[in-house]
Amino acid sequence: MTYTVITGASSGIGYETALAFAKRGKNLILTARRENNLEELKSKVNEMNADIDVIIMTADLAENDQVYDFYERTKEYEVETWINNAGFGNFDSISDQELPKIEKMLRLNNEALTILSSLYVRDYAEKAGTQLINVSSGGGYTIVGGAVTYCATKFFVSAFTEGLAQELQAKGSPMQAKVLAPAATETEFAERSMDTEQFSYEENVPQFHTAQEMAQFMLDLYESDKVLGIVDGETYEFHLRDPLYPYVNRSRN
Ligand code: NAP
Repeated sequence: MTYTVITGASSGIGYETALAFAKRGKNLILTARRENNLEELKSKVNEMNADIDVIIMTADLAENDQVYDFYERTKEYEVETWINNAGFGNFDSISDQELPKIEKMLRLNNEALTILSSLYVRDYAEKAGTQLINVSSGGGYTIVGGAVTYCATKFFVSAFTEGLAQELQAKGSPMQAKVLAPAATETEFAERSMDTEQFSYEENVPQFHTAQEMAQFMLDLYESDKVLGIVDGETYEFHLRDPLYPYVNRSRN
């Protein structure tokens, strides 16, 4: 049996991606902090298809020791696809940022993603059919004023993952590394980014996708041979593309 790991599966894009992969018959390993949401998701999946195995592993991925521990716990399963989706944003000018929140964002968006990607690549790069998909953002390719640090975390995700994809291709490794770059998507993201209780996308955002639509884009990227799946911030169309960042290979091996 093989599994798809999805981090940040308790809401939004991760939650809908779990349902979309379950519809494709994929067994799931789901993580986030909110166990109740993950249990509810597991019941939903099993109502749909009782043959799908859903493993729940709660973890706070902003704590590096829990990140390593989570990876260790996944090691008893064969992981076909690893999706690093957990992340959050912050909308403040840099002078107004609350640094404890920013530290946590850097640990979750960058440190956890780098640790989990590196361990997965180390264990599975030479295994045919494996994929690593990291969730970046349109803000991983364009700096958005008022969200500069968040965008910088996503520039890191895009550069790291595009670079990894290039490295794997240069080595002839079968694993595919990919970046999903959503634009505004209706999830809990805005509330968390602005530290507000309720936010209406309908009333405040001229254009956005639903989390279900984004999960379908995730599947489109999964099924393609392209490295990048990106939503155009003007038209809101989804495009599958080659890497966007310039890349020079100076490695000696
Ligand atoms: P969301 O509904 O807030 O989901 C975020 C997920 O991350 C939740 O499952 C949350 O679970 C998990 N998470 C947050 N902190 C965590 C922690 N410390 N440890 C473990 N899990 C944690 O937002 P979303 O929009 O679906 O976000 C998914 C990804 O899409 C993020 O990487 C985000 O940056 C990216 N993105 C979103 C948008 C957008 O407009 N929505 C646009 C571009 C990119 P718990 O709280 O239960 O732990």
